[in-house]
Amino acid sequence: PVVTRFAPSPTGLLHIGSLRTALYNFLLARNTKGKFILRLEDTDRTRLKPEAEQNIYDTMEWCGFKIDEGPIKQSERKEIYAKYIQILLDKGKAYRCFCSKEKLDASRLDGYDRHCFHLSEEEISAQMKEKGGKFIVRFKAPEKYESFTDLLHGQVNIQDRKDRIGYDDLVLLKSDGMPTYHFANVVDDHLMGVTHVIRGEEWLPSTPKHIMLYNAFGWTPSKFIHIPLLTSIESDKKLSKRRNDASVFALKEKGILPEALINFCALLGWSPPRDVAQKNHECFSLEELTQLFNLDHLTKGNVKVDNSKLLFFNKHFLQKRIENELQLEELVSTVIPKLLAKYETPDEIQLTEKVKLILKDCGHCLNTINDFEDQFSYFFNLPDYSVHSEETQKFFKSNNRDTIISILETSRTKLMSSTIQETISETTKTLGVNKKLLFQSLRFALSGNVSGAKIHVILDILGAVESQNRLQAAIE
Ligand code: GLU
Repeated sequence: PVVTRFAPSPTGLLHIGSLRTALYNFLLARNTKGKFILRLEDTDRTRLKPEAEQNIYDTMEWCGFKIDEGPIKQSERKEIYAKYIQILLDKGKAYRCFCSKEKLDASRLDGYDRHCFHLSEEEISAQMKEKGGKFIVRFKAPEKYESFTDLLHGQVNIQDRKDRIGYDDLVLLKSDGMPTYHFANVVDDHLMGVTHVIRGEEWLPSTPKHIMLYNAFGWTPSKFIHIPLLTSIESDKKLSKRRNDASVFALKEKGILPEALINFCALLGWSPPRDVAQKNHECFSLEELTQLFNLDHLTKGNVKVDNSKLLFFNKHFLQKRIENELQLEELVSTVIPKLLAKYETPDEIQLTEKVKLILKDCGHCLNTINDFEDQFSYFFNLPDYSVHSEETQKFFKSNNRDTIISILETSRTKLMSSTIQETISETTKTLGVNKKLLFQSLRFALSGNVSGAKIHVILDILGAVESQNRLQAAIE
């Protein structure tokens, strides 16, 4: 059976790149009825961020990624790694290194001269005494990296720097007794039976090192799938992890729904069969993605992250939530406190009903629920008639003010005794104006903008008295 894992390092808030990695691993496991593991690669104690671990758990839950095994924390597995270090030491494939920091720093440039590999047993014991048991363990790396197969890229042959002088004897165990990323990663993937490693292309250069380690143990490597880098649509540059606005948390705060973000991330490097995509307008729930996902439709080139598409998905899924009575209640309850803080409202129950009605009738205009107060402020407050959108400016430029005023006056009087349909047909007839002009005038008076929700919807929600007041207020 397929076993996948998501193995983040808790060094900051998860961003969409990591979320995509988690998603693909999750989808592959679900699609094949396999197992999905969450593993925290937290052995680099200097890079840990206190809030990061909880942020990983929260994000997994928020997205509905059910974890079959874990969270497993590498920092709690020191004994296990020690055991496997010993195996390599015994095999002569690793050795203790006592070199000073200065020497090691220099070796970063020139490569390491393998000095400590040649120490005798006595020298090792002497060093152990002298350094108080402080040492690192290095891998005795083969001269060349082997090529390997990546399920997406095919045969990959990466060699290290051509001008390298010394040995690439990577560190396996640090002086604090913690394994390095490379070592813990390989040992765990093996012990946890991980069959498929889906990870970002930035890890491709590390893979030959991992293969060396697998070979040293005599283990069969997992299958590797390196998914393309995400680049920003504006600059074509790699999306930075440090740019916090790409963090899942920041997007959530902006009102992005998990189902929208999942849909968005799914398509950053994978595409469903064309006919299915067309039929669904590329909108897919997590269940649908689970059915559809497979490794055959991954893409290779860099992927541009287009946030307008994220908003498109968000709009779609927001509308779905509005159509679901229970989720609608939830949406309403996120909006109410903000409205209460902003507007004086005598009656909260009435307000709740009003918000519900607005969402049902006009919610399809919203990209995110966070836009609610701005976009629909006119339902709670008299609009500011002096602020004109571009469209409204155009409207005033191309229409006669007096005509607009007489439209508003006539409809106001009509509205007192007739329905909106009657008001519309009678006003157009009496004044000889077209319906478009009438609608725009009314909408301006009611909402402060010439375009937007349907007139009868606005009238309904505002109520007769308030609507008539506004038709009056707009003229003044
Ligand atoms: N800990 C690595 C990361 O933070 C995992 C890389 C891998 O999947 O092997 O991305």
